[in-house]
Amino acid sequence: MMKRHAAPSTIVSFSWLLILLLPILTAGFADRLQAYDPPPSLLKTALQREHKPEEIKSLRVREGAPFKIALFADLHFGENAWTDWGPQQDVNSIKVMSSVLDDESPDFVIYLGDVITANNIPIANASLYWDKAISPTRARGIPWASIFGNHDDAPFEWPMEWFSSPGIPPIHCPAPNASSCSGGSYCSFRGTQRIELMKKEIEHNLLTLSKNGPKDLWPSISNYVLQLSSSDDPESPVLFMYFLDSGGGSYPEVISNAQAEWFQHVSEEINPDSRVPEVIFWHIPSKAYKNVAPRLRIHKPCVGSMNKEKVAAQEAELGIMNMLVKRSSVKSFFKS
Ligand SMILES: [Zn+2]
Repeated sequence: MMKRHAAPSTIVSFSWLLILLLPILTAGFADRLQAYDPPPSLLKTALQREHKPEEIKSLRVREGAPFKIALFADLHFGENAWTDWGPQQDVNSIKVMSSVLDDESPDFVIYLGDVITANNIPIANASLYWDKAISPTRARGIPWASIFGNHDDAPFEWPMEWFSSPGIPPIHCPAPNASSCSGGSYCSFRGTQRIELMKKEIEHNLLTLSKNGPKDLWPSISNYVLQLSSSDDPESPVLFMYFLDSGGGSYPEVISNAQAEWFQHVSEEINPDSRVPEVIFWHIPSKAYKNVAPRLRIHKPCVGSMNKEKVAAQEAELGIMNMLVKRSSVKSFFKS
């Protein structure tokens, strides 16, 4: 829910949330994650009306163990690389993520948007920072999925402190694969597009379950569904996880009617009787969150920046919330 930041110092160094989906996923979960092959039955049925059938990747659960998901949100890698605190923030985030992953051994990790702060990254290929952010999960062999936030492909915003008295700002561009600053030969100020970031992640990582989403929903990119299958039958779903691109950066901060219709179509196809629980992930909270946000301070055990910021909601409500509220199989929403 972090929107444009008024000043770099207001950006929280790291915020994360670890979720145990035990209340939702009860008995019958077993077997370590193994199969990523889509169930053939779903391949044939999903998205056949207006959309092309799409591959639905699946995960499996361990026998006799809960299925744990770790959620990392608003990591904001690559921030202010021309200062000390920006790169140090990334180092700290790697440490915290590593601790969470080592202590909790999650079965799956979700990067819930604002993986990078593109409006602070003056280089052509910001996927280098994206890659750093997912590196602790990859190093431990844990599969993951990611969605986009409002900062991930934003164009560069020139810091006012760069403008010296002659009026021509010095250039501070980090070299690829370097956390320190160097000359201007690597500079680019346009931001790396969502589709470029996602393609790089998918092309270079066997463990990612992220997807580009249906092309007719572009330029919103991270729209896809994953199936969690039972331990004894890879074709038997026990949970569907929906990921939606809530916009921001190069794109309006909304979930469009087209995305809502896509959700409705897919969910009715693959879960027609609402028997299987569904959980929903996107980055920017809906306007409804403003109505239910606590008016007073939130105390322990909650941690993070929630007491420093108000809910920064989407620009418009275009139908997805009404749709989800009416659907009995939708059990939880997770936002950033
Ligand atoms: Zn954000």
